[in-house]
Amino acid sequence: MFCAALIGAACTAPEPSHPPPAEPGAAYVIPFGSVPRAELRRAELALADLTGRRVTVLPARPLPGGALSSECRDGKLETPCPELTYDASALLDAALAKLPGDTFRAVAVTTAPLDTPSHERLIGYARSGERGIVYSARAPGVYLTEAAHRRRVRHIVAHELGHTFGAGHCDEACVMRDVVSVAELERMPEHPCPRHRADFDEGRARSIDSADFRADVGAEQMRIGAWAPAAAALRDAVRRDPKDARHRTALGLALMSQGRLLAADDVLRDAAMQAPEAPQPYYARAVLYAAGFDPYRASAHLEAGVLRDGDPVRAHRAAGILYQDLLDRPRAAIKHFESHIRYGGRDPEVIARLVYLLSPTTLTITDPEVIIASWDPERGLMIAALPPSGGPR
Ligand SMILES: [Zn+2]
Ligand SMILES: [Zn+2]
Repeated sequence: MFCAALIGAACTAPEPSHPPPAEPGAAYVIPFGSVPRAELRRAELALADLTGRRVTVLPARPLPGGALSSECRDGKLETPCPELTYDASALLDAALAKLPGDTFRAVAVTTAPLDTPSHERLIGYARSGERGIVYSARAPGVYLTEAAHRRRVRHIVAHELGHTFGAGHCDEACVMRDVVSVAELERMPEHPCPRHRADFDEGRARSIDSADFRADVGAEQMRIGAWAPAAAALRDAVRRDPKDARHRTALGLALMSQGRLLAADDVLRDAAMQAPEAPQPYYARAVLYAAGFDPYRASAHLEAGVLRDGDPVRAHRAAGILYQDLLDRPRAAIKHFESHIRYGGRDPEVIARLVYLLSPTTLTITDPEVIIASWDPERGLMIAALPPSGGPR
């Protein structure tokens, strides 16, 4: 999740925290490039207080060229990139790729400016459920006392840690409040609201030894494409909670991503036996077979997943895409896309795919009560009318 704490934003701190829980796991500060010792100390203090873990400052790592903002990297600007700016998401991924095994949370800090892929400046960035946050310790441009510096860093770290604990932005008087204008800075609240206080308390009380924590590590490592560490974390999650079919399904996907298809099939079959009503193991096996393992078996698993899915709008959308993209079965794809709409779905991608499949220029309506649309050569697809949403007719 983006933290939109904008450059210069003086976020506010939560109330003094509770005594540290006696949980295993450590926290780390990771400098990227040259970062003043005083700034590392500020991050260390904030992280120790907010996580209740022992904090270690790791040796500085070079700023990775691959994380440069695309504007700087591609040289597309008319004037040279005035200051080397880094993509916050890419820098976070670089930090997550090399975390010590006992990491509870880690703060990556750089003095370089950060931005989003659309080149909006950011001061901090984090994603829900992941272990890392990143922030820019760029000099604020005005003189700050050391106390004010520490408060500023603590506010940034608290806000971003809140994101990792699953807290979204907040409109209440809350440290999770998003800052969208300079005028709002002065009104920034001091504490998390009660709802987000609960996220902070639950988040910091989590144990790195719990199956859920290991599963989150697996999902984090999957996201950055680190299949082997992802599979290791998910295998650990399965070992710690063998009854949870979600962990087994995620492990199957990680093994599939590693190319270990037979092992993935075994794990997914176990997951389906363990939770026969859950759609996910069936979807995962459908993808496994469709991707080359045994394409003829994909369809039965896909349909079995759709049947078990409590969300038919989502299920038919996913099934249609799989039929269209992986199985090259356009008629089956059309059937599922039409079902998506019949159940009240209006996903623009589904509608665009359906139009493409039916005819890219002269739209053939197969069921005018479901889709009433026309193709305008000037304006493209025109949805003239759609039946009311809210379930199958
Ligand atoms: Zn935020
Ligand atoms: Zn809140």
